Amino acid sequence: MHTAALEACGIQCSYVRLHIRPEELTEAIPLLVKHNFIGVNLTIPHKAAVIPLLEEITPKARTLGVVNTVAIKNGVTFGHNTDGEGLARAIQSDFQTRLGDLHPLILGAGGGAGRAIAIQCLWEGCRRIVLVNRTRSKVDELAAELRELSLTLKQGPSPEIIALTFDDPQLEGHSKSASLILQCTSLGMKEGDPSPLPAEFLHKEHFVYDTIYSKHTQLLKDAETKGAKTAHGLSMLLHQGALAFQIWFPDQTAPVALMESALRNATRTTQL
Ligand code: NAP
Repeated sequence: MHTAALEACGIQCSYVRLHIRPEELTEAIPLLVKHNFIGVNLTIPHKAAVIPLLEEITPKARTLGVVNTVAIKNGVTFGHNTDGEGLARAIQSDFQTRLGDLHPLILGAGGGAGRAIAIQCLWEGCRRIVLVNRTRSKVDELAAELRELSLTLKQGPSPEIIALTFDDPQLEGHSKSASLILQCTSLGMKEGDPSPLPAEFLHKEHFVYDTIYSKHTQLLKDAETKGAKTAHGLSMLLHQGALAFQIWFPDQTAPVALMESALRNATRTTQL
């Protein structure tokens, strides 16, 4: 998608893939600066490890504790995170609804993606956020963090934050009363994986977003059967990429439609 965007904007740059091992990251960042890179995207396991290696970090990336986009300007490295905002834009484009107006239930909230998305839901102004995770300690920790963070936001009364595990009897009620189901577990990435949520907890009024884009997951199949509106993670990938492009080239407008079609071709995914 970045190659398509660079070509369309007439920018004489290449987006290349670099395999950096964890023990090479400290050496890699100054090398990128030295070789005039405009920026870089990072993925697991570098997203948190890169923070002490950068000169400037945006307040949002600092709160999230993870950076997925680095911009290099006049030799100075700036760390950003575009994942959460990418999700917010994906919800807007897929469901024509503002994330902040929905009541999300986040499955896998204790993982890296789930945590970033939960914090984005808070920033977007969601009034009730239900966090669900297999491991209790992680979801309790996140709930406490969100409650504390909400005190620093000037958005009126603090939102209701509810933390559950998958075996909690309240999961059915909270699932049914949520307006958005956000699937952030890794369950569904392997062929034959079950859905993390029983099909009977879904109904046709739900928006169901599965962050997985490499498979047509059981959750999405169940949601479609119920008549719910569904979308998958390709749009999140697209929008976090478009936001990164905009950070690197602030004078350009990211050609989102073109990036989307390049992304679809690259992943051979037809459903968005
Ligand atoms: P992660 O940090 O390893 O978190 C994995 C999450 O899945 C944890 O909450 C974990 O629960 C849960 N989980 C794993 N196996 C489970 C099972 N059998 N039953 C219930 N819960 C289970 O991984 P991540 O980086 O957050 O990625 C999670 C998902 O987000 C992946 O599917 C990935 O494809 C997707 N993602 C998509 C995008 C995008 O752009 N579309 C971006 C990032 C991530 P515990 O805490 O109990 O271990």
